[in-house]
Amino acid sequence: MEKISVIVSCYNEEKALPLFYEEMEKVRKKDFEDIDFEYIFVNDGSKDKTLEEIKQLREKDKKVRFVSFSRNFGKEAAMLAGLDASTGDYVTWMDADLQDPPSLLRKMYDTIKNEEYDCVGTRRVSRKGEPPIRSFFARIFYKIINKMSAVEMVDGARDYRLMTRQMADSIKNLKEYNRYSKGLFSFVGFDTKWIEYENVERVAGETKWSFWKLFKYALEGITAFSTTPLILSSVIGLLFCIVAFILIVVIIIRTVAFGDPTSGWPSLACIIMLVSGIQLFSLGIIGQYLSKTYLEVKNRPVYIVKETEKDSMVEK
Ligand code: UDP
Ligand code: MG
Repeated sequence: MEKISVIVSCYNEEKALPLFYEEMEKVRKKDFEDIDFEYIFVNDGSKDKTLEEIKQLREKDKKVRFVSFSRNFGKEAAMLAGLDASTGDYVTWMDADLQDPPSLLRKMYDTIKNEEYDCVGTRRVSRKGEPPIRSFFARIFYKIINKMSAVEMVDGARDYRLMTRQMADSIKNLKEYNRYSKGLFSFVGFDTKWIEYENVERVAGETKWSFWKLFKYALEGITAFSTTPLILSSVIGLLFCIVAFILIVVIIIRTVAFGDPTSGWPSLACIIMLVSGIQLFSLGIIGQYLSKTYLEVKNRPVYIVKETEKDSMVEK
């Protein structure tokens, strides 16, 4: 029998988790009589009772496995940890808040089976229920990153996808520290089909992503999959050199021809401000890449595991 691994990253999801499990089990019993399941809950350093909830589920259902981190490592780390622990022939990631409808899973599975795709991804076609300002910046982000990066990022794409073991393993083998899954998924290639659905609001608890966190995540995506900002800063630098050179020539000629009245220092001050601003901006861009390189070179683990279901079995 084939097996599907369902990976669920959980950060402070004590309220949503039981609801997720219930709903997912309902779908499994209805649609997946012919297929084995394993649930891998990754507790991403939750501060509430999430781990207890997971352990309770494990007590009554041996399909439930878990990985518990020593602290909060972020969703990307949780996704990788789940993948590392998974043993299924197919792998899927879902959010604990039921924003990724389990009811789509059968359709996704059938598509891979019958249409020879390696992966089926899901895409929200609406952003209903999301603050408009967030949707606005999300749109801009996708426009920018797709211009800058050779790897395609699909607007509205969720991390909820079902993929074959072969594709999952190739993602597992990407050992980079700065992980940006949306990019990694397209980087490895393979044939992906997109299923579209209307946005669903989370069942319980609240979102873990503040605007600032999302902004940093967006920068992460850009620096991880594009070096265009570096080129951009060189081009701006070059342009300014050319402009400055022309101005110098103009000023010399004007001084020689008309003498040198000491006027124009306010404009000079403005120019100094502008140019030093651009310098700092470019330096910042270089710094971004340097810091990413620094983190890669240190070769720290992406996550640290404190406990898994195997540990609690030893206890008994
Ligand atoms: N999550 C996580 N670690 C974090 C933040 C979030 O594992 O540091 C999980 C969270 O528990 C949820 C999923 O990532 O299952 C998506 O988070 P959320 O629903 O808060 O994001 P949104 O849907 O609002 O973008
Ligand atoms: Mg959510």
